Amino acid sequence: MATEAQLRADIVEVGRRMYARGYTASNDGNISVRLDATRLLMTPKSVCKGFMDPSMMCITDLDGKKLAGDRDPSSEMQMHLEVYRQRTDAQAVVHAHPPIATAFAVAGIPLDRAVLAEVVTTLGSVPIADYATPSTKELPQAVSKYIKAHDGMLLANHGALTVGSDLYSAYFKMETIEHFAHISFIARMLGGERLLSKEEVLRLQGLRGMYGISSPAPICADPDSTPSDQADCQVVFAPPSRTRLVPSTSLGTGPAGATSPDAEIRLTYSELTALIEDAVKALKN
Ligand SMILES: [Zn+2]
Repeated sequence: MATEAQLRADIVEVGRRMYARGYTASNDGNISVRLDATRLLMTPKSVCKGFMDPSMMCITDLDGKKLAGDRDPSSEMQMHLEVYRQRTDAQAVVHAHPPIATAFAVAGIPLDRAVLAEVVTTLGSVPIADYATPSTKELPQAVSKYIKAHDGMLLANHGALTVGSDLYSAYFKMETIEHFAHISFIARMLGGERLLSKEEVLRLQGLRGMYGISSPAPICADPDSTPSDQADCQVVFAPPSRTRLVPSTSLGTGPAGATSPDAEIRLTYSELTALIEDAVKALKN
């Protein structure tokens, strides 16, 4: 078990890295870690995470009562408390606004496609918690739906949240989410991801035990049957196939050419205008 002095220094270091990588701007973001069974060490309100000092941190109990520290605890303390209440295995919580992952959260696009083997094996998927006003009780309620089954999630129109078995593990999951979002974004610009097949995803899940990767929940056997009140498995979209890599169009959400009646199609503005003009002409005739 790390000493309090070490944990204070670790929070400073993680804050410095988050700020240096652009995961937070100004005073954004917050970090907490369990000191022992009843106390948390947490970043204070209204400080830039890139310029913290070990003496700045607050100590609170698990109900959020301040026990020590000159400053008040993070304005998102309630969100951290909710995580610790629901996840007795979580030793640390990190919240930031990494720009590409946050752009997915703003666009309402979860990072739940089977794209990268390492991400499937470690995080499973990264869902989006519903929009909630920051610093209110809405935010812990929104996080509550996914936190039992996920170590990382996006927060709609806000940012991202990760938990870990120690502070660096929580921080590295934040790095993984931003890296995954970056790769997903570029792959979509290049025409779309090729997805890992369902069979490959199950094989990767099997590696979790082999490599000692702890996961709070399994990958959902049937993503469509996930209950809406609280997720108890990780939704990973992977098409069934005998081959290991499958074009994303088989999800029915890819570019024109997909055959599902619910599939999305994309038209340029001039193509759409031409279609409407044709329809108007047909009506007139
Ligand atoms: Zn925030």
